[in-house]
Amino acid sequence: MLLYESLEKHQQEQCQYQMKICRGCQKNILKKDLDQHEQNCGEIKIECQRCKLVYKQKEKHEQLDCLMNMLNRSNKKIESLEKLVNNLQQSVQKLEATIDVHFLRGLPSSVVHDVPLSSLNPSWNIIYDFPYSHGTTVEELRALRSQCKKHIIVGAIQGNSSMILKIAAMGPSEILSLDSPLNQPTKFGNVHWYLTQNKSFGFAPSSTTINCNLADYNEKDNAENRLSWHLHGKGGYRAGSVISLDGKNEWRKIIMTEKH
Ligand SMILES: [Zn+2]
Ligand SMILES: [Zn+2]
Ligand SMILES: [Zn+2]
Repeated sequence: MLLYESLEKHQQEQCQYQMKICRGCQKNILKKDLDQHEQNCGEIKIECQRCKLVYKQKEKHEQLDCLMNMLNRSNKKIESLEKLVNNLQQSVQKLEATIDVHFLRGLPSSVVHDVPLSSLNPSWNIIYDFPYSHGTTVEELRALRSQCKKHIIVGAIQGNSSMILKIAAMGPSEILSLDSPLNQPTKFGNVHWYLTQNKSFGFAPSSTTINCNLADYNEKDNAENRLSWHLHGKGGYRAGSVISLDGKNEWRKIIMTEKH
């Protein structure tokens, strides 16, 4: 004789004559027959341990299909790995370019002051060195482009024997090919660059506007961070806050690039 409580327990857990639902065909099957039924039920789903395909027991899983599935899975994995490698390569290239510009080769991408030439990577080379009394021309600047690698430094040195850039900025060498409409500079890094025919060539911080009639005459905002050379045949005009350098031999106009 079973007590009521244990009867209930018996029915729930042990009674072999209760009905269970087959996980495949969803039919009611006596518990005692369930294992046997599920072993043969065609609707039972099986996952292949090798190719991870889920298929019904009644379907055949041929070895060739299995191999093809494994191959497809491998190919997809390879594809996504290739994409990953590609993205990583691009990131590395970007990083290298940044390091190239900022640390290894030259200057940060903004206007800088008092840079000893000896602090630059030795691959930097002066290709243009004239006193401010010299009349720089568009043709001169354009001709320099062919000597330049990726970047140029434009700056000014005070004194014939000085080796210190009092003011300088670095940018891509395409600056020498600019054809800027008046007072419409191009931004590279944190610097506004302009090369306006018959007017002037120079730079200013990108946070500021330039005010060229001939050269950049802006005296109010960031005067110390502006460089501007006349391009109308006469020398001048400014190296930072030092202006009206038109006849001055003491100051030198400097353009540098990396050696080939
Ligand atoms: Zn029973
Ligand atoms: Zn079944
Ligand atoms: Zn398989």
